[in-house]
Amino acid sequence: MDYIFYLFIFIIGIVFGSFYTLAVYRIPKKQDITHTHSYCPNCQHKLSFLDLIPLFSYIFLKGKCRYCKEKIRPRYFIIELISGLLFVIFAHLINFNLQNLTIAKILDFSFLILYFTFVVLIAGTDKDNRQIYKGISYYGIIISIMYMIYLYIIVHTSIYRYAIYLILYAVILLLDNITLRKYAKNTYVYGIILTIITMCIFTGEYIVFESIITVLLASFIYLLIKTIQNKIKAKKEKFYKKMQIGYMLGISNISFLIYILAVQQYFL
Ligand SMILES: [Zn+2]
Repeated sequence: MDYIFYLFIFIIGIVFGSFYTLAVYRIPKKQDITHTHSYCPNCQHKLSFLDLIPLFSYIFLKGKCRYCKEKIRPRYFIIELISGLLFVIFAHLINFNLQNLTIAKILDFSFLILYFTFVVLIAGTDKDNRQIYKGISYYGIIISIMYMIYLYIIVHTSIYRYAIYLILYAVILLLDNITLRKYAKNTYVYGIILTIITMCIFTGEYIVFESIITVLLASFIYLLIKTIQNKIKAKKEKFYKKMQIGYMLGISNISFLIYILAVQQYFL
């Protein structure tokens, strides 16, 4: 019976995956992510229900648009598949199954998915545009506050640890607004800090610490390689201004989260 349950979770995962590709494409263009009809980016033809079935549409249409035959990027298919698989892995790692179908587990899983959605949107839009979009940061803050309320009321966690994060949120948002008014620009750094705070609330300081160390290490190696290449090419450019920190943080954070959940599941 668990197979059917996990299949159900997998289907939810690919539906979310399909939403992720759409949102990552539309948020930077400031398009509506919930209402506007999906269309082919090449021929602008509205997509029908049959074109929008995650995974399967791609297989049946052999990776081409039904109307203009333009190739659909395999990225859509891959993201949907990975998202489906990760949903199953998450459910398995937190012991969410038919024997354990309590309200608490359902809420646990839901928060994990809401958080995962946050990380995917931050990482995806940052990879494509090197920007942390305000809307996604606000979404992170809203789910964090919901999560804190949940922990306080249902799990009875002490809220003092979280009070610090709330203050930090407020300070960063204030600084961000001041910079925005004074210099009329969005600062990437504030977006990254807000992302880190949300990560701390959901995955804990330890995992976030590990993620940051990994990103620093990766950036260092990246800069080293670029500096060496730069000397050869003699072309000066500020490479750190191109580094997609949100993207790197997102990948390492989810990897460490899965690793820690797996260790808890199998070795403790
Ligand atoms: Zn088309």
